[in-house]
Amino acid sequence: MEKTDNLTAFVSEIFSSAQGEGLNIGRRQLFVRFGGCHRHCLYCDTVVELTPQISIELEPGSGMFTKEPNPISCERLLYLVGGMNRPEFAHDDLFLTGGEPLLHADFLTAFLPEAKALFGLPVHLETSGDLPGPFSKVTPWIDHVLMDFKLPSVTGEPPAWDKHIKFLALIETAKISATLKLVVGAGTAADDLNQAAMIIADSGTTADVVLQPMTAASKTDRVPTAKQVLAWQSHMAGSLGRSVRVIPQCHKMMGLL
Ligand code: SF4
Repeated sequence: MEKTDNLTAFVSEIFSSAQGEGLNIGRRQLFVRFGGCHRHCLYCDTVVELTPQISIELEPGSGMFTKEPNPISCERLLYLVGGMNRPEFAHDDLFLTGGEPLLHADFLTAFLPEAKALFGLPVHLETSGDLPGPFSKVTPWIDHVLMDFKLPSVTGEPPAWDKHIKFLALIETAKISATLKLVVGAGTAADDLNQAAMIIADSGTTADVVLQPMTAASKTDRVPTAKQVLAWQSHMAGSLGRSVRVIPQCHKMMGLL
């Protein structure tokens, strides 16, 4: 474990909401959104810059925020999360998102053991799934991974297949439950889906696989047609020989954070 002295991280938001993506939709979660990202996905809908201030929800679910300066110490983040983790809000999980939380892996090796001991909440990690080195540092404290599978035709970036392969191997070795999320838009290439299906099949993972289509709520002109999405779903399900779900971002439809 890292010593907590002098360890700080950039966090952009701390708030409480219902999960809007993947198989855990609807779970009440305490969100810590870390700042910074090493990727530049075309569809990114998040502020990924290192902000000078953190927005902290005053009362869980109120949508009213106060601010305090970045970066934040491990002790201060534990204090703020503890203040929101009150029994009457019955949080199901602590959800680490970003940006990319794994850019703060050293900080997390100090924060997570303390957070688990203090709050007793399962820890869910949302990640781009392409930083296996940093991920290997935090696996002991992660209960569920919502792992993006980045399709080059959708992100507009070079492939990250090799990194996804290593990341999946770590999930399997550490026996962490996982959801594999593939964001799809109008221009999604069949070759990308084939490659992703091959990697998932070869990994031997039983993780749930979700196609997350862009929708009007995504504020993009790259919304796929229903026909496209169903064709991709049946193709992937056929390749994997098991269920593949279609689940859009539901929090946006409900006006949740
Ligand atoms: S990995 Fe996530 S946070 Fe980073 S640019 Fe892509 S969509 Fe945005």
